Amino acid sequence: MDAVESLLKRLRQKGIADESVLQALRRVKRHEFLAPSQRGSAYEDRPLPIGEGQTISQPYVVAFMTMLLDVAAEDRVLEIGTGSGYQTAVLSCLAAEVYTVEAFSGLAAAAEERLNRLGFGPIYFRVGNGRLGWPEAAPFAGILVTAAASEIPEPLVEQLVLGGRLVIPVGDPHREQVLQRVTKTQTGRRVEDHGWVRFVPLLEPEREGDCG
Ligand code: SAH
Repeated sequence: MDAVESLLKRLRQKGIADESVLQALRRVKRHEFLAPSQRGSAYEDRPLPIGEGQTISQPYVVAFMTMLLDVAAEDRVLEIGTGSGYQTAVLSCLAAEVYTVEAFSGLAAAAEERLNRLGFGPIYFRVGNGRLGWPEAAPFAGILVTAAASEIPEPLVEQLVLGGRLVIPVGDPHREQVLQRVTKTQTGRRVEDHGWVRFVPLLEPEREGDCG
């Protein structure tokens, strides 16, 4: 069995049962999102460094968050924290359109070049403070945040359609967080907890635009 198939087998054993999500992880080759020095570990189930002090998420967490987002083929989704673009690519296998916001212009540019080269799309990129969402493109059926927030950013809930889902790690950004799924309802919102995770902090860029 090759490295990708044994990773998928492991994800199944850990409870990922959504075949469309597993198919997306089969299609998106994780080694393409890593520096040559990290590629040997690409199909291990752990986060890896991508520069600027940031990480590419663990495959299990990518699969689990994508499963919670419950993406339909006609959906438009927003990702906060483009990073390497790996999660972006997984989302673009499942959704009609993906919007993605990254604080670091260098990471955003590298991800955009990579995703174009690999033929994923349509994907729209923005450099800025993801806490603000992307109001001009809202509303979204799903919003996925790949960095830890101490509380739920209200603009993100506002930018969901009715029935839309926000998947976000909430808690101490320097320790552990609870993975929450917030569903927008007629009367407000429903919040579910989905276990502990550990993400890099959702930053507070000082101005709309660049972190570096
Ligand atoms: N989804 C990425 C994970 C990257 S880690 C991947 O699959 O590779 C989290 C990312 O969120 C980092 O790239 C970090 O720079 C970015 N980030 C942190 N705070 C942010 C903010 N306020 N707005 C946008 N992006 C942010």
